Amino acid sequence: MTTPDSTSPWHARAASLVTDGRLFINGERVPAKDGQTFEKHSPLNGLGLGTVARGQKADIDAAVAAARAAFADRRWAGQSPKARKKVLQRWSELVMAARDELALLETMDMGKPISHSLAVDVPATANCIAWYGEAVDKLYDEIAPTADTALALITREAMGVIGAIVPWNYPLIMAAWKLGPALAAGNSVVLKPSEKSPYTALRLAELALEAGLPAGVFNVVTGYGHEAGEALALHMDVDAIGFTGSTRIGRRMLACSAESNLKRVYNELGGKSAFVVFNDAKDVAAAARAAAGSVFYNQGESCNAPTRLLVQQDVVPEFMAALQDEARNYLPGDPLQESTEMGALVDAGQMSTVLGYIHQGQAEGANIAFGGRRVRTETGGYFVEPTIFEGVRNDMKIAREEIFGPVLGVIPFANEAEALALANDSVYGLQASVWSSQIDRAHRVARGLKAGTVHVNQYDEDDITVPFGGYKQSGNGRDKSLHAFDKYTELKTTWLRIDA
Ligand code: NAD
Repeated sequence: MTTPDSTSPWHARAASLVTDGRLFINGERVPAKDGQTFEKHSPLNGLGLGTVARGQKADIDAAVAAARAAFADRRWAGQSPKARKKVLQRWSELVMAARDELALLETMDMGKPISHSLAVDVPATANCIAWYGEAVDKLYDEIAPTADTALALITREAMGVIGAIVPWNYPLIMAAWKLGPALAAGNSVVLKPSEKSPYTALRLAELALEAGLPAGVFNVVTGYGHEAGEALALHMDVDAIGFTGSTRIGRRMLACSAESNLKRVYNELGGKSAFVVFNDAKDVAAAARAAAGSVFYNQGESCNAPTRLLVQQDVVPEFMAALQDEARNYLPGDPLQESTEMGALVDAGQMSTVLGYIHQGQAEGANIAFGGRRVRTETGGYFVEPTIFEGVRNDMKIAREEIFGPVLGVIPFANEAEALALANDSVYGLQASVWSSQIDRAHRVARGLKAGTVHVNQYDEDDITVPFGGYKQSGNGRDKSLHAFDKYTELKTTWLRIDA
C-alpha cells in the first residue's frame, strides 16, 4: 500500500489502514444484495485499498425504503430544531475527533496531499455540519400581509427523501454541503458517493449514527453511476436530487427526473472560470500567485479553478514570469509527506484525459511555458506537473472544455470590452475574478460577468456563509449559506379565514 522508501509517519498509518467498503443502510453495514464488489485502488501507487460494495437498484430500493420509513414516522423530522441542532453539533465534534483517520482515507482514496485533507477537507466538513445545525433553530417562517379576515402562514417543510450524488474531488466536503442543510431541515438522505472515493462517506454515516442521528435517516450506497446512481435518480420515491458532478451527468439527472416522478433536481456542475487581470491591478505578481494557488490546488481537480487567465497584453510578460515562478511551488510530491502541495490525480483514466488535453493544446498551436509531463512514474501513481499554456485563444479546446487537472491557459486581451466578452464566451458560469485597482472598473466588470461568484482582487476567499453555484451550464440551485435550505424544503401556504 505504500512506497518502500517512505519516511513520513503517515506511511506507517497507511500501511495499517483497514477499509470497510460495505453499504450503510438503516444504521447497519451490509454487503450489496447480490454480493457484488469492486476493487478500489489508491492513486498514490496504483495498489489495492480494498473492496467496495457494488450497489445496484435493489440496494437503492432498500436504502430509499429505510429513508422513507424514517421520514414517515418522524423519528428525525419530528424532533425539535434544537434537538436536531444538538445531534449535528455532536456529529461535527466526532468528525473532528476522527480527523486523522478521515484525512488519511481521503488522501489514500483520491490522491490529495495529507496536509490539505487535515487542514481543509475534514475541518470544512465538520464546520459545515455544525453550521447548519446551529442555523436551524434560528430560522423563522412568515406571515403574509393580508386583510383582517385572514391569517396566511408561509412555512417551510422538510421534503422527504433526498438523493445526494457527489463527485470525488472533495468527497467529504461535497457530501457535507448536501447533508448539512438536508438533514438539519429534517429530511432523510440516501448518499451515493463516487466510485472513485467511497470510503469517507461511509465513515461519515457511522459517525452520524454515533452522534445520535436515528437509523435510517442517513444511508450510503456505494457503486457506479450508471447502476446505483441512475437507480437513485430514477427512483419514484425520492423527492429531490442534490447532484454535484459533470455537466454531462447533470443533463442526465434532469432526464431521469423527467422519466420518473419529476423530482426536483439541483445541479452543481463544471466550470471554466475566467480570471481577468487588468494592467492597473495593484500587484500583478499577487494575481499570478492567486491563480496558481487556485488552479494547482487539489491537482487542478476543482470545479471553480480559474483555468482561463485573461491578462491585459502589456502586463503579460510580468504575469507570465510570476506564474512560472509560482508553479515551481506545486511540483507533485508524495501525498503522505506533510510538505507536499500537489498530489496524485484520482486515477489512470483522469490522468490520460489530462495528458490528452495537454497534447491537444500543443496540436492547436498553444505553447507549453511550464510542465506538461507525467512524473513520479516510479511510484506507480498518477502525477502530472503543473502546466502553463501561453498563446492560448479562447476558441481552442483547452479554453472551452473543462480539463479537471493542473492545466491553465493565458489569453491576452486588449481592453475592458474584449476582456468581458472573452470571459463570458463560455457555456460555463461558475466563478470569475477581476483584478483592478480602479473601483469603478472592478464593479463594472463584476456586474458584467455571468458567474455565480465573482472574486475581486483575490480568488478562493470564501466560507460557508455565502452561496456556491453556477450560471448557465454550471448548474442551478446553490450549495452553502442559508439559501441551501431552499433546495431541501417545500414552501407551504396555509390560509385561515377569520370571521369578524
Ligand atoms: P461525474 O459527473 O462523472 O460523477 C459525479 C457523480 O455522479 C459520481 O458519484 C458518479 O458515480 C455519479 N454518476 C455518474 N453517472 C451517473 C448516472 N448516469 N446516473 C447517476 N449518477 C451518475 O463527475 P466526477 O468526474 O465525479 O466529478 C467531476 C465533475 O464534478 C467536474 O465536472 C466538476 O467541475 C464537477 N464539480 C462541480 C462542483 C460544483 O459545486 N459546481 C463541485 C465539485 C465538482
